Amino acid sequence: MIAEVIVDVAAYPIDRPFDYIVPETMESIIEPGLRVKVPFGRRNVLGYITKLKDESDLDFTKLKPIDELVDLEPVLSAELLALSSWLSVETLSYEIDAMQVMLPAAMRARYEKYILVDEPDEIEDEDFRSFLANRKRVPMKEAESFGLLGNLKKLVKEELVTVETTISQRTAVKKVRMIRMEEEAELQRIKATLHQNAKRQVELVDWMILHAGKTLSAKKVMEEAAIQHPVLKALIDRGAAYEQYEEIYREPDAPRLQDGPAPEHLTDEQQVALDSITTSLEVGEPETFLLHGVTGSGKTEVYLRAIQRVLDKGQEAIVLVPEISLTPQMTSRFMERFGPLVAVMHSALSAGEKYDEWRKIQRREVKVVVGARSAIFAPFDNLGIIILDEEHESTYKQEDNPRYHARDVAIKRAEHYGCPVVLGSATPSLESYARASKGVYTLLTLKRRARNQELPHVTVVDMREELKSGNRSMFSTSLSEGLRTRLEAGEQSILFLNRRGFSSFVLCRDCGTTVECPNCDISLTYHRAHERLKCHYCGHEDRVPSTCPQCKSEHIRFFGTGTQKVQDEVAKLFPEARVIRMDVDTTRQKGSHERLLREFSEGKADILLGTQMIAKGLDFPNITLVGVLAADTTLHLADFRAAEKTFQLMTQVSGRAGRHELPGEVFIQTYSPEHYAIELAKEQHYEPFYELEMTARRQFGYPPFYFVTLVQFTHEDVLKVADFANKATAYLRENLSTETTIIGPTAAAVSRVNNRYRYQCLIKYKKEPKLTETLQQLIRLYRTNWIKSGLIMTIDVDPVSI
Ligand code: ADP
Ligand code: ZN
Ligand code: ZN
Repeated sequence: MIAEVIVDVAAYPIDRPFDYIVPETMESIIEPGLRVKVPFGRRNVLGYITKLKDESDLDFTKLKPIDELVDLEPVLSAELLALSSWLSVETLSYEIDAMQVMLPAAMRARYEKYILVDEPDEIEDEDFRSFLANRKRVPMKEAESFGLLGNLKKLVKEELVTVETTISQRTAVKKVRMIRMEEEAELQRIKATLHQNAKRQVELVDWMILHAGKTLSAKKVMEEAAIQHPVLKALIDRGAAYEQYEEIYREPDAPRLQDGPAPEHLTDEQQVALDSITTSLEVGEPETFLLHGVTGSGKTEVYLRAIQRVLDKGQEAIVLVPEISLTPQMTSRFMERFGPLVAVMHSALSAGEKYDEWRKIQRREVKVVVGARSAIFAPFDNLGIIILDEEHESTYKQEDNPRYHARDVAIKRAEHYGCPVVLGSATPSLESYARASKGVYTLLTLKRRARNQELPHVTVVDMREELKSGNRSMFSTSLSEGLRTRLEAGEQSILFLNRRGFSSFVLCRDCGTTVECPNCDISLTYHRAHERLKCHYCGHEDRVPSTCPQCKSEHIRFFGTGTQKVQDEVAKLFPEARVIRMDVDTTRQKGSHERLLREFSEGKADILLGTQMIAKGLDFPNITLVGVLAADTTLHLADFRAAEKTFQLMTQVSGRAGRHELPGEVFIQTYSPEHYAIELAKEQHYEPFYELEMTARRQFGYPPFYFVTLVQFTHEDVLKVADFANKATAYLRENLSTETTIIGPTAAAVSRVNNRYRYQCLIKYKKEPKLTETLQQLIRLYRTNWIKSGLIMTIDVDPVSI
């Protein structure tokens, strides 16, 4: 028997399966999806079996045997294996990268496996019993060399033995040390052999006699018997008790934001949406829905009920949220509704915690996964529904290899299972809405808020006028009036700072120099808390200069508005206001997100001030005012999605106000009030925005009318990077059809990061049959020749930002 194995080495000539001989001892249990250790060159590497066959095209004598099996059960199902090859083609990445993105990082570590047996002489399988020869802990490799893996697998299934994994990393399976006391007679016998002056041991044996035959954690034994470890160890050595390890799951801190009871009745709109989805569930055909519902329209309630149906049918559900630590409220709602059936996969979990959640899924101990992007690969095998909440969010696209979009993977998996995908948003991506308009997706619409509340009243404030009338503060007169009224009424407000391109930097008022990062082509950002300047691209840190590095002038000061500065300003205007600030600085610690939000929800503050992380998902009854300090910062990004992103953000953040009984009010401060993205965000009407934006996209030839692919180049040498970029672009021009537009090469918007110069070129096309082939050729050229000279080239098909 021959196995095809993809090895864990990401390098060009190795991006294909290699043939290995399956030793006879493994034949009974080997199957695709298992991990193995195989000899590779002079090394021994981890690999994944993708296929088994009878013959190899290669000379049999040149083939090497598999060294060792790492798993008894596949870690990748046939479906996930197929998905990984599809993914590597779609995203032009190594197959090994596509496989590993599906598994928790802890699974790449080095393993040792041991067989653990409680009662070796009670095993009925005679071969296995004689192999054990009364041992309780045996390396799995030994069973393999005796050809007993099949027997082992059976015994594991019958729960007569367990396999312990020790990983040479802290992310191993977490275990507690358990102590099993002998029976009373044996303990009495041992007691009789003890020395009189071994007082502590006598005490412990007496205690054990009271607990004879029980299994308790070592910690508990030591505490209750009030003895130290050496005493326990001495008795274990005498055979009074056995040590064994029990696997436990780490318990990640669950977010604890209370949610009200589930509403008894759905609104008519919700019911119509749910009915469509459940009909599709019954039919068992793949179907993608776009659930377009205004903020507060009760989309989440629709998800929850659809999932209930899926569970009733004995199937499983995946729910994706953009960034789970930012949406603790959403997570709590799922946990409250489905309790222990839910696994939560956040990015804030440790590698070990992620591994535990993954194992719960693989063992089918949970039925619902709520998680960020990578949860789309949850190893379920009977999926009934996949939901992407806030489907327009850019976090669904991975920015590293493999550069996949969770939406595409969701639709691919749903095809396999014949199940619905639900894409939910108040502000769908243009791509999705266009597909829904064409009937590729089924459009479901929720026009009204679930509690029948009006959408908040939005005022756009022209900051140029404020300046003209002599107001130099960052708060317009109407916003500060609004804040004052809320403070007096005891209601809560949100102040939102659009962070991108809007942090404080240091500028010399005499010569205009800004203090820049020595490694990157970007200004350093001022951090008040540590009195330091930091680069947000490469992490470089510096102290704050007291004189201008250029002209030595002392007139050097901070510009722009950071959250800290806003907080100071609020304190000046409203000394009595209690403010909670949420930004990267105040939420660095694990769990601080939940804590700050809980405090705000308990009314311990009047104003929640923050960046993007407070824009979505919050549903608190007492918030009646939202202030956006400067709406335009995302508008001026050099990106064709700038208007779309601004509109989405304004709509999302406005949607936090007036969701319950009290009506909401929103102030959007801007220097470009006439821009359609801002004007239309005022009305909170998606369709007119969609129409206008589509016109612009058509005119300039951008998605969804055209596809785009971004090729980026970085190199330490500015001449070399330009040279390679030119060569690559020329190659593309030669090989792609004339209808395809190639823009560039041009220097990237931030032209140097971490001392590497950056160039890019953009391919725009409607239909380009030769695209994949040409890009693959380009990659081959890069991997065989260019990479040696220090070039890094990345290709991003359908980038979320350019
Ligand atoms: P969305 O996800 O669309 O922003 P949510 O699902 O968070 O909306 O619902 C907004 C609020 O309305 C929540 O407080 C929710 O509990 C409530 N809600 C949802 N559906 C109903 C309903 N049918 N009746 C009453 N309240 C509802
Ligand atoms: Zn100067
Ligand atoms: Zn830098």
